[in-house]
Amino acid sequence: MSGNRVFKCYACGNEWEEPYGTGRPLACPKCRSPNIHRTDADRGKRTAGGGFGAGRAAYDQGRGRDMSGRGQR
Ligand SMILES: [Zn+2]
Repeated sequence: MSGNRVFKCYACGNEWEEPYGTGRPLACPKCRSPNIHRTDADRGKRTAGGGFGAGRAAYDQGRGRDMSGRGQR
């Protein structure tokens, strides 16, 4: 626990730390791409790359199937 937040740029793969209190960076300091993601909190939870989007899609599909099967509510 260093107290720093770690961000990763998906455009160039750059990783850097930002101290708390400075707000979320708007772009990669190296290539200026806004395609960045905080990565320190993800450690051990998901592998990088679409885990969140895939999980959400599966959730929406399951919901739709469930609702159509029941007919109402
Ligand atoms: Zn970058």
